[in-house]
Amino acid sequence: MIITKQKPLEEILRNIGPKPVFLVGCSQCATLCHTGGNDEVIALKEQLTSKNIPVSGHVVLDPACHRQNNKRILKDHVEELKKSEKILVLACGNGIQTIAGLFPEKQIIAGTDTLFLGEILHASEYQKRCVMCGECLLDLFGGLCPVSQCPKSMLNGPCGGSSHGACEINPQVECVWDRIIQHLKKQGKLHLLTVVQPPKNWSKAGEINRRI
Ligand code: SF4
Ligand code: SF4
Repeated sequence: MIITKQKPLEEILRNIGPKPVFLVGCSQCATLCHTGGNDEVIALKEQLTSKNIPVSGHVVLDPACHRQNNKRILKDHVEELKKSEKILVLACGNGIQTIAGLFPEKQIIAGTDTLFLGEILHASEYQKRCVMCGECLLDLFGGLCPVSQCPKSMLNGPCGGSSHGACEINPQVECVWDRIIQHLKKQGKLHLLTVVQPPKNWSKAGEINRRI
């Protein structure tokens, strides 16, 4: 899931200004993150209205990153969209850009910051799992990703700074290398770590189009 957080209201207000705005949410990741689902869109609408900022309409797309589906859904909001030069999007950066592509004549306002691809650990608690490096190495590391979960993206063992299993960069977080070693030890596969990993080929993360 793509993890987002809503921007502070003051920042949103600064970017919107006093003129009418149309609000867009997303039924998928932003809904699960409580940053851009129906509840959050309605709550923001009420906050804006209470500050005398007109909201010309609102919609929760399904999902915001589906260009063709958006065109179909937004046909029902043509008149509301005409009344606003601005669209505020509560979705991930992907969804925001999809809307920007559909409405090049309008000012697009990002209502969220997009953080990472992550797992839902508990309600409202998310953990980074992947930075979409384009060449997955999880089979080498017991299913745990040092590229995304180690702040230094160490590929050949721990940096040496962890203390009692906690990361030296952020003691609130377990050292992923500590976990990798424990996992592989349990599986009897520690020998996997004797293979020296070359520097990651980041050109594989550079694909910008994919057609299936
Ligand atoms: S190795 Fe790359 S693709 Fe696999 S989980 Fe980590 S960042 Fe994602
Ligand atoms: S302590 Fe562990 S997770 Fe933190 S930077 Fe070092 S190797 Fe990476």
